[in-house]
Amino acid sequence: QEETVVQPRSDEKDVLSSKSALEGAPPLSEHWTVFDTNDAVFNAARSAQAATVIFTVEQTSQIEQLAHDIHALRRQRGSAMKIVVREITASLRATDERLLLGCGANLVVPWNTPLSRCLTLIESVQKQQFQRYVPEEIGTLLSMTQPLKLRGYQKWDIFCKAVHNIMNNPLLPADNKGVMVALRPVPGLRVEQALTLCRPNRLGDIMTIGDNRLVMFLTFCRINDLDTALNHIFPLPTGDIFSNRMIWFEDKQITAEIVEMSAVTADRWTAPLPVTTEKNEVMNAVHDGRSWRRYPEPHRLTDAQGGQPQ
Ligand code: C2E
Ligand code: C2E
Ligand code: C2E
Repeated sequence: QEETVVQPRSDEKDVLSSKSALEGAPPLSEHWTVFDTNDAVFNAARSAQAATVIFTVEQTSQIEQLAHDIHALRRQRGSAMKIVVREITASLRATDERLLLGCGANLVVPWNTPLSRCLTLIESVQKQQFQRYVPEEIGTLLSMTQPLKLRGYQKWDIFCKAVHNIMNNPLLPADNKGVMVALRPVPGLRVEQALTLCRPNRLGDIMTIGDNRLVMFLTFCRINDLDTALNHIFPLPTGDIFSNRMIWFEDKQITAEIVEMSAVTADRWTAPLPVTTEKNEVMNAVHDGRSWRRYPEPHRLTDAQGGQPQ
């Protein structure tokens, strides 16, 4: 039986790293070269072949450039290079990680990984041959991070069409495109009133009302994160507003529900109250990063005769 012997590349042991990846520690051996910026790492890596290349990310604004750099290295330098991204502060959404991996990174190390664990992870990709397919056009990868350029209330038919398009986009990950949830308001609350409490912030989060339900689609939200997302979106616990909810998160389920929704005739769509379609500002409330909190404001009632109570 014949064995293919992979020739070791001369630079296989080299590590080209951004300085911040080491948190101020000195280079770990003669093989390490440390650079001040990702740009400098990239320039050095352009003539490398099998080296380990370590970039860092600490804010959202760096993601796109990093994606371009990783894509260029992987396409031009081949599959022996080990490309690692270390997240320094929490700045990557799951979709951002997917983008970087899609561009050709071997590994993305999350921000809360200690340095020593990070170094072990870097060891784990040594001698690895990158196997996944990287498209020639990076635009293909970038466009899938924001497939839906809509936010907030949509008319019933527009909503159905938007979700239908997402479900039929072959570039998006199977069964990981988002969560759809239908909420039925508690007795006494009309669905158009419930809608005024629904304040999605993230581009790609849309909802509609009809058939006495509020239906939302949260792009790329995972089912286990649904409550986190709903806490960001509603200023009150959803259990106080809605008595019943139904959830769909697999492609097949969502598609089937959209087919049913598309069959609902226009006379059962509900028109939003005018206030919902106007500005969407939250009054007297702050978001503490987990949920909305209203702070009471003192008001003095006027003691003048005939004064208007506040
Ligand atoms: P987190 O706030 O705890 O949210 C965890 C996950 O819940 C998110 O993972 C996402 O899948 C889902 N999620 C939360 N809020 C929303 C929402 O309003 N709409 C939708 N569609 N999904 C939502 P993801 O995307 O991987 O983000 C991970 C963490 O990164 C978040 O944890 C948060 O700490 C941070 N993050 C992401 N995007 C932003 C942002 O635009 N602003 C801020 N301040 N932090 C963000
Ligand atoms: P966007 O995606 O339309 O999100 C708008 C706002 O929704 C965010 O404002 C934040 O207040 C809220 N938000 C959305 N998702 C989350 C979440 O998962 N957790 C929390 N806690 N809040 C969330 P912010 O933070 O000022 O961000 C403004 C814009 O900057 C975002 O617009 C997005 O385009 C970009 N951005 C922020 N963080 C990230 C990120 O981690 N990854 C990516 N790809 N973009 C981000
Ligand atoms: P609640 O507990 O009956 O409080 C009603 C309102 O009183 C709150 O509306 C808020 O305006 C004020 N309030 C009560 N406790 C505090 C406080 O410790 N600090 C401040 N600054 N204001 C307070 P809000 O914020 O819209 O909350 C509505 C409901 O959501 C609350 O009704 C409670 O059921 C729940 N909630 C909100 N934040 C928290 C929290 O941090 N912990 C718990 N357990 N529940 C909370």
